[in-house]
Amino acid sequence: MNGSSFRGVMVYSENPSLLLELLAAGRGLADKLGAPLSAVLIGGEVGGERREEAIRHGADRVYVLENPRLADFNVETYKAALLRVVEAEPPEVLLIGGTKRGKELAPRVAAALETGCMTDCISLEVDEEGRLVGRRLTYGGSTVAEEVCLRKPQMATIPPRVYERPEPAERRGEVVALEVEVPEPRVRVVERKEKRRAGFRIEDAPVIVAGGRGIKKREDLKLLEELAEVLGARVGCTRPLAADYHWLEEWIGLSGHKVKPDLYIACGISGTIQHVAGIRDAKVIVAINSDEEAPIFNIADYGIVGDLYKVVPALTKALKEKLGK
Ligand SMILES: Cc1cc2nc3c(=O)[nH]c(=O)nc-3n(C[C@H](O)[C@H](O)[C@H](O)COP(=O)(O)OP(=O)(O)OC[C@H]3O[C@@H](n4cnc5c(N)ncnc54)[C@H](O)[C@@H]3O)c2cc1C
Repeated sequence: MNGSSFRGVMVYSENPSLLLELLAAGRGLADKLGAPLSAVLIGGEVGGERREEAIRHGADRVYVLENPRLADFNVETYKAALLRVVEAEPPEVLLIGGTKRGKELAPRVAAALETGCMTDCISLEVDEEGRLVGRRLTYGGSTVAEEVCLRKPQMATIPPRVYERPEPAERRGEVVALEVEVPEPRVRVVERKEKRRAGFRIEDAPVIVAGGRGIKKREDLKLLEELAEVLGARVGCTRPLAADYHWLEEWIGLSGHKVKPDLYIACGISGTIQHVAGIRDAKVIVAINSDEEAPIFNIADYGIVGDLYKVVPALTKALKEKLGK
């Protein structure tokens, strides 16, 4: 690929919802670059609905790569498919959804294209020189690094929920089907086991009541559950409660789920950078902590200094009365 042949912004995620969020990110960049935006769909069969959906959400062009060998995600076959499009229509910017699979795929594609990839970007923009600038959290979320790619395509991965999915609109776009030669994968899936999950996705909860090590016993989680019930909220926690005590299955933070609720109530949580990295996009944070010096108060919109064993039941009672429950 020579330097002048790169054009446009291309986005790919195997996750349909994240693909739409990438289209929001890509549309802004494409408009700034005065270039087209394309989406890539890969699968055994890609329904017409997904093609139309991509166009309605901002794609000017949709590349479709269908092959029975692409029915299930495999990093080698999907890498071959993505490289097929990139080599046919080299984009200036290539964005990949930062799911577990996307994070396996992106570095392999970048290595094959001999370019760099900025991972887990929290924002992307185009600078005066037309370069893609990615911002990402570093040092456990305590600092933000700005990076640029020195080669093209300029690649980045974006985690879910960084960008809001765009409003659909009646738009016209082109659908291009590409043949792809899919290699025989060297890794075979021999068994699938369903992962035990909490039965809901904490990332989708609009209100979260979360507990930390200020909770002394497993049974005391009941206090949080009662408050959550009044608010129609979900209960979440810091890593020690899940990973060390096994009171809950999943946790929130840098190594856990990143959440973006309208309201986050942190009960007995100190506010370490690893936890805060997962909640910094919450619209309103309320912190309840007995230590007035706790770092959580630095990022909280509202802070209550007090014993959660007194404050949480009092809050639940007051809200019940207020909401007539
Ligand atoms: C690589 C790495 C990744 C990590 N990833 C994550 C992650 O994704 N998510 C995460 O959460 N952690 C993560 N951690 C762990 C993190 O560093 C902290 O250990 C953890 O977040 C602390 O959890 P905590 O706030 O519940 O506990 P603590 O830090 O012990 O805080 C407990 C708080 O409760 C308050 N408290 C005590 N009693 C009461 C009471 N009765 N009423 C009110 N307040 C009270 C205390 O004042 C204190 O502030 C990670 C660590 C590493 C090294």
